[in-house]
Amino acid sequence: MKEKKEENNLMEKIISLCKRRGFIFPGSEIYGGLANSYDYGPLGVELKNNIKNLWWKRFVHQRNDMVGIDAALIMNPKVWEASGHLKEFSDPLVECKKCKRRFRADHVNSKKCPDCGGVLGESRQFNLMLKTFLGPAEEKANEVFFRPETAQAMFVDFKNVLETSRKKIPFGIAQTGKAFRNEITPGNFIFRTREFEQMEIEYFIKENDWKDSFKYWQKEMWDWMTDALGLKKDSIHESDVPDGERAHYSKKTIDFEYDFPFGKSELYGLAYRADFDLKNHFKEAPYKDEETGEKFYPHVIEPTFGVDRSVLALIYDAYKEESERVVLKLKPMLAPYKVAVFPLLKNKPELVKIAREIYAGLKKEFNAVFDDRGNIGKRYYSQDEIGTPFCLTVDFESLENNDVTVRHRDTMAQERIKIKDLVKFLEDGIS
Ligand SMILES: [Zn+2]
Repeated sequence: MKEKKEENNLMEKIISLCKRRGFIFPGSEIYGGLANSYDYGPLGVELKNNIKNLWWKRFVHQRNDMVGIDAALIMNPKVWEASGHLKEFSDPLVECKKCKRRFRADHVNSKKCPDCGGVLGESRQFNLMLKTFLGPAEEKANEVFFRPETAQAMFVDFKNVLETSRKKIPFGIAQTGKAFRNEITPGNFIFRTREFEQMEIEYFIKENDWKDSFKYWQKEMWDWMTDALGLKKDSIHESDVPDGERAHYSKKTIDFEYDFPFGKSELYGLAYRADFDLKNHFKEAPYKDEETGEKFYPHVIEPTFGVDRSVLALIYDAYKEESERVVLKLKPMLAPYKVAVFPLLKNKPELVKIAREIYAGLKKEFNAVFDDRGNIGKRYYSQDEIGTPFCLTVDFESLENNDVTVRHRDTMAQERIKIKDLVKFLEDGIS
C-alpha cells in the first residue's frame, strides 16, 4: 500500500514537472480542459520529434526493405467496413443506473459503480470509432470516421506503393501519425487519450515465413526499447495475448508491457494479421511473384509503437531524484536541448559577449539554450530537470585560454574544452 502511494505521488510529480517546464500541458486548459486531452509544449514537442525521427531513421532510412507513407486521417468509410472496424472495433460498456456514469465493463471488477456504489446495468458493445461529417449536411451519406489506427492506409495504398517503389516481398511500409478512439474511460495522463499518435509498420511476407518474421520483429522492438530509447530492461515485459482477447484481425499478438507508475501496462504491440486486411481490400491478389508468376495475398507482421506512451515511459524511466536535484537522465540524443550556454556573470559584458557568440554558433548545429539568470548552481539544476546533457560556462579563464567549463549532467563532472573544439565534442557526446 505504501509503495502504491509513493508511485501515485511520483506520477503527480512527473505530471507537475511536465507542466511546469513545458513538456505537456492539459489541452484547452483556460476553458477547463477537454476530456483528458493534452498539448505538447516547447520541450515536449522536441522530445516527441526526437523519438519519431530516431524511429524513422532506424526503421526506414537505414533499411533497404522499408518505405514510408503519410496518409489522410479521414478515409473512405468503406475502408472501415472492409477492415471490420465498424462491426468489431468496440469495447463492452456498462452504465451506472444511479449516477449514469459509463465505464468499460472489463475495467470494473464488481457489479457496483466505482464512483457512487450504484447498481451497474447490463454490458453492451460500444464502437470506438470517432465520427464526423464531411461537407455541410449532417446526414448518414456524409458520415465519416477519423482513423482508429494508421495501419489501414498502408493496406489500402499497398498497390500504389508496390508499383512506385519497386519493392519485393519481404518489405514493409511505415507510417507515423495521429489516430483517434472514442475511449469510454481515458486516463492516466497521456497513457490513454482519445487522440494519440502511432508509429506503425506493416511488414509484408510470404505466409510460410510468418513465424520467423514475427520473431525477428519481436527482437527489433526489444532492441528499439532497450538500445535506442535506453529503457530499463527490468521494466519491460512481454505478454502473449491469449485467444479471445486479441484484436479481431490478429492470429498472434505479443504486448510489450512497461512498469508505469500506475502499474504494468501496454507500451507497444506486435501482431500477426495474416492476410486478413489485403484480402478484404483487394478483390484480386495484389502481389505477383516475379519468378514463378504466382499471384497471392501477402501476409503481414505489424509492429505498433505508441508515441505518447513512449514519451511517458521515457520521462518516467529517466526521472531521478537525487539529494539536491531532480534530473532527467534521458539519452543525449533524445534530450530536448543538447546544450545550455551560460556567461558566469550576467553583468560582465566581456563574458556575455563570448557566451552569446558561442550560443549563436552552436545553435546552427544543435538545439541549444542560453541562460544568464540567477547563479550557476541554479542554472545547472534547471537544465538537469529537463535533461540537457551538457552545460557550458564562459568564465574569466575563457578570456585568456579560449575555452569554457563543460559540465556533464549525469556525473556533474566538469572539464575545460577549447571553444574551437565544442562542435566536435558535442557531436561525439550526443551520438
Ligand atoms: Zn454511479
